[in-house]
Amino acid sequence: MLKMQNPKDIRRLVTRTPVRTNSHAQKKYFSLMLVPSYSSGRTRSIRIPYLTFYVLFAVILITGGVMAGLHFRAENLRQTAEHAELALEEIQEAFIDLQETAEEERRQLIEDSINLRSTLAQERMRGEDEQLQQRATYLETLEILQFHVEELEEQIWQFETRRQQILDALSLNSHIPIVRTALNELHQSQLHSLVTLEDLRQYSQVQRERRTTTLVLLSTAGLTESTDAATYQFFDLIATAEFALEIMAELDEQLMTEVERLLPHISNHPTIRPVNGRFTSGFGWRRNPFGSGSEFHSGVDIAAPRGTAIVATGGGRVTFAGWNGAYGNQVVINHGNGIQTSYAHASSILVRVGQYVSRGEVIARVGSTGRSTGPHVHYEVLINGRAVNPVTFFLD
Ligand code: ZN
Repeated sequence: MLKMQNPKDIRRLVTRTPVRTNSHAQKKYFSLMLVPSYSSGRTRSIRIPYLTFYVLFAVILITGGVMAGLHFRAENLRQTAEHAELALEEIQEAFIDLQETAEEERRQLIEDSINLRSTLAQERMRGEDEQLQQRATYLETLEILQFHVEELEEQIWQFETRRQQILDALSLNSHIPIVRTALNELHQSQLHSLVTLEDLRQYSQVQRERRTTTLVLLSTAGLTESTDAATYQFFDLIATAEFALEIMAELDEQLMTEVERLLPHISNHPTIRPVNGRFTSGFGWRRNPFGSGSEFHSGVDIAAPRGTAIVATGGGRVTFAGWNGAYGNQVVINHGNGIQTSYAHASSILVRVGQYVSRGEVIARVGSTGRSTGPHVHYEVLINGRAVNPVTFFLD
């Protein structure tokens, strides 16, 4: 490639016409003629050897080829870059879209979760309300059941108290042989039932403690399972109490039958003092108050002012009422069960033979008739006709 310094002045001319010279060496040159555009200028020629020319030509061609190649390569790269840019833009757009979508999704999710949470809270509150209501109903039922159990236990307790009172009353009369026998029999027959009752009572005690624990649990937790358990425990307790009550009623009936049978014997039994006064002489051997030596005193002497009321010491039928020698005015009462009482030295007699008198009824008045040193009652108790110490009969 040739570069001209002044394109106005010179024109380029390259010919392949070999320079015609006569020398052999000259034939191996190309001549480059530089002809000026005006007439006065000098024509210049440049000789270029063949080899140089071809080399230059080749260089020009190769350079051109390389340039073209580079150009195409650059063009290619440019296109690729354009494509890449476009693709990048698309990706960016897609990314933005995606971001927007994601943002939307996120907002939706947050909204959904808020809704869900509030729904859950509502559900939970409703559930809690239902649970509370259910618990209240259960507790109410349990209270009713507990009340029922307590009522039953109260009844059992009343029965037991009553039974104990009757037994105590009977025990007070245990000196009456028939009562003593009956008490022994009752003790034997009721013992078994009482053992069962004691078992039930202990069972009930354990259950009551468990129930208290359960109720405490209920008031803090309110679980259906424990309420069910408590309910069953109550039913169990009720069944137990009812069974105990049955036993108690049986015992009571048995006892009442016995009392019915024993009552006449108890009311007839001489248990009180015939007169309010001072004991002046006891039962047994004593110095003879009327002379020397000793005698057997078959009763007790109770001194009291003349005319003081003498009462029957137990219920019975009058078998003697009248004068009886040393006894003076005497009343004899038959109490049944081979027991008789005698009241002597009375100033007056107020009953007749065959008359039924009850305990505490006035039968005569204090006097000093018969073999007597002063106003007093000579009181005797006879069992099957034999005098025994009356003091053992007094309950007060
Ligand atoms: Zn006497």
